[in-house]
Amino acid sequence: AKAQGLHGYRFFTASMNERARAQRRIETALRQALPRRELSLHYQPKVDAQSGRIVGAEALLRWHANGRVQYEPDQFIPVAEDTGLILPIGAWVLRQACKQAQLWQLRGQPVAVSVNVSPLQFQHADFYSWLDGVLKETGLAAHLLELELTERMVMSGGDATTDLLQRIKQRGVRLSLDDFGTGYCSLSYLKHFPIDALKIDRVFVRDLTSDRDTATITSAIIAMARSLNKLVIAEGVETREQGAFLRLAGCSQLQGFLYGAPLPAAEFQKLLGEPA
Ligand code: C2E
Ligand code: CA
Ligand code: CA
Ligand code: CA
Repeated sequence: AKAQGLHGYRFFTASMNERARAQRRIETALRQALPRRELSLHYQPKVDAQSGRIVGAEALLRWHANGRVQYEPDQFIPVAEDTGLILPIGAWVLRQACKQAQLWQLRGQPVAVSVNVSPLQFQHADFYSWLDGVLKETGLAAHLLELELTERMVMSGGDATTDLLQRIKQRGVRLSLDDFGTGYCSLSYLKHFPIDALKIDRVFVRDLTSDRDTATITSAIIAMARSLNKLVIAEGVETREQGAFLRLAGCSQLQGFLYGAPLPAAEFQKLLGEPA
């Protein structure tokens, strides 16, 4: 057991070093990514569960250089968060997404844009005034912006967090809880927070039609959320069966490859068709 432990320890340090090196490589490149204009946003449609119409778009960060994907968000966003780079990057993301949504609004095709917010941004003392500034600067109507927060962010901050959420909501910006069901949030807690919507995590959607327990739990989450007057959005919908189940269970909006992958703004706009 001792030998095995030692072996395990050496394996651990080797892979840690490798990880640290990979992180540093990403960090170095990421520092240049904004000034070099390598970052862009893709937009994934969110459709109304009843009508199938596109009612929103989630803005998702992409990193390309020399015509190729540099790293996936799941690789570089954690590095951005660890290094604080998520602050300038997140600021760029919000401004860019609001500008884009305002352009669609001016074309007569109002699409609400959802922006992922990381904990570091949200904890920043100036978050509210900065958010307000971006709305004023871009001219976007607040109700066309939705912030996607995680359970951990909402749960951990106590009164200050609840006050901030309240101010954002009073400003007219919509709030949703991302990746719902994977964290710590109990449904009974939800009624204390001024959250408009829950996004059921993809892991539930994935197993819906193959696992009875998952189907039961998902239906219960949707029913309880609705009884608390929260909208429910499902993400990662890939099959017609999943879509049909979620619509019947009471989801208001659906998002996933079945309805459309994340696309560059120009291509997303084609999905909207010509303005009326
Ligand atoms: P998320 O917020 O949960 O975003 C949903 C992820 O699921 C996206 O991955 C999206 O491309 C992917 N997806 C959408 N539909 C389907 C589907 O039908 N099946 C499957 N298997 N996947 C689907 P992506 O774009 O790679 O982003 C990964 C994560 O990176 C996001 O997860 C979010 O946490 C983070 N992220 C992306 N953009 C930003 C950003 O601008 N700011 C921050 N703070 N985080 C971001
Ligand atoms: Ca999200
Ligand atoms: Ca999510
Ligand atoms: Ca996620």
